Amino acid sequence: MRYIDPHAHMVSRTTDDYRAMALAGCAAVTEPAFWAGWDRSTVDGFTDYFRQLTEFEPRRAADDRIDHYTWLCLNPKEGHDRALAREVLALIPDFLDRPTVLGVGEIGLNKNTRHELATFEDHVALALEHRQLILIHTPHLEDKLKGTRLILDALRGAGADPARVWIDHAEEHTLGLIRDAGYWAGITLYPTTKASPARAADMIEVFGAERLMVSSACDWGIAAPMGVPTLALELRRRGHPESLIRRMVFENPCAFFGQCPKFRTPWSD
Ligand SMILES: [Zn+2]
Repeated sequence: MRYIDPHAHMVSRTTDDYRAMALAGCAAVTEPAFWAGWDRSTVDGFTDYFRQLTEFEPRRAADDRIDHYTWLCLNPKEGHDRALAREVLALIPDFLDRPTVLGVGEIGLNKNTRHELATFEDHVALALEHRQLILIHTPHLEDKLKGTRLILDALRGAGADPARVWIDHAEEHTLGLIRDAGYWAGITLYPTTKASPARAADMIEVFGAERLMVSSACDWGIAAPMGVPTLALELRRRGHPESLIRRMVFENPCAFFGQCPKFRTPWSD
């Protein structure tokens, strides 16, 4: 099986994880900018991080023939620091032309504060100004529904094209809302917390595969890099056709990322 992991924080993962993903059929990953495990205090930390995402990680992935793409931003957890946000927003355009940068992300909300929302709106404006795709994080805390609504309102206000925006970490109570408004939705798979592969398979059965992607997250916590192939196995065990599995784990990501001319279909002749 050939698959793409659309949302994988590989900087927090070992080279062994890249190898295991390659052996399971991973052909490409896209890595959103996120939190470093602690709040960074200066913009210099972001310069180094953006270099790591655009220079080092693509090389590390290439050793196992995995294409590595990335997204840049100041993440929602640090978005409350408005002074730092202004400095990072000024830095991002220097990196947007790099050959593996697909867009701006993962931006969004963590605790749904006023400052986080202002930083989110600034990132959306930057993405639209530079004609970038947008990847959005919705809060994992109790306010996912409220945060998703705030995000949808802000996107509408900014005039973003829903076809070029992917709103991730959707769950049963937000997935319909996101897709009904015309956006791409994502489910992130976790072995014990948040959306399990079985829950994701239920959501695919209820909501269908249209404008939907699944990712393993691969973040600092317990987030198995085998999330996407585990979901594929779950769908196969339930008797779903290979065409549905291929659409979920490969064709849908290719359709969304293909809107950026830098993205190439992996393993194509
Ligand atoms: Zn993430």
